[in-house]
Amino acid sequence: MPDIPQLFQNQWGAKSADLGHVHVFAQPQSDEVPRTPWLFQPGAVTVANLTNLHTKIDQFFVRVLDKYPDEMSCRRQCSGCCHQSLSLTGVEMARVVSAVDRLDNDTRMRLRNRLTQKLTPDVCPLLEDDLCIIYDDRPTICRSHGVPIHVTDNTGRVVRDVCPLNFSGGGNLNNIPGDFVLDIDRINQILGVIQHLAAQSGEVPTARLAMRDVLAARLTTVE
Ligand code: SF4
Repeated sequence: MPDIPQLFQNQWGAKSADLGHVHVFAQPQSDEVPRTPWLFQPGAVTVANLTNLHTKIDQFFVRVLDKYPDEMSCRRQCSGCCHQSLSLTGVEMARVVSAVDRLDNDTRMRLRNRLTQKLTPDVCPLLEDDLCIIYDDRPTICRSHGVPIHVTDNTGRVVRDVCPLNFSGGGNLNNIPGDFVLDIDRINQILGVIQHLAAQSGEVPTARLAMRDVLAARLTTVE
C-alpha cells in the first residue's frame, strides 16, 4: 500500500499552492471480481474521497476568481474548454455515469442522439447550448481548467500554463504568486490513489475509459 501521507508532501515548496490536507481513506479489501465494465459500484468511501478532492479544486478556483476577477474570463456558457474528447479514470467515470443516470428522459435522449450520430466528435457530448448538462458532477480536468496550473510537461520540465482566454493569454503567468497556481501533478497523484483503492476493491474498472464509449454503451444498454 503506497505511503499516502508521503504523496501529499508539497514537492515544489512554496512554488505551488497547497490544497491543504486531503485525506484519502482506504476501503476494506474485497476479492469480488469486477462486474461488467459498464456497471460502476463506487463505495461510500470512494465517493467521499472523490467529492472531497473535487470540492477542494472548486474552492481553489473561486479563490483565484476572487483574487483576479479581471484576468479570468471563465463564466456561464463559455465552453472553450469543452472542445475535447475525454478519457477518464474509473472513479471519475462512475460519477459521470451516475449523473447521466439522474438526467431526465428528454435530456438523456438528446445525449444519446449526439453520441450515436457523432455529429461533433471533437466536442464533449455533455455540452448542450454551451452548458454542461452534468456541471455539478463534471470531472477533475474540467474543474481545474481555467486557473493557472503547474504541470510536468512531456520533457519532464515543470511548467506553468493557463487557458489562452485568461491572464492575457498567459503573458504574465510567471508574476502570479504560487498560492494561486494549481499543482496538477499532485492532483493527479491524489486522483491516482483514489482510483487505485477503488479498482483494488473491484468497485470500478482499472483502465482509463473513453467517456463517449461508456456513455454510448450505457445509454443504449439502459434505454
Ligand atoms: S464534462 Fe462538462 S465541463 Fe467537462 S468538457 Fe464535457 S461539457 Fe465541458
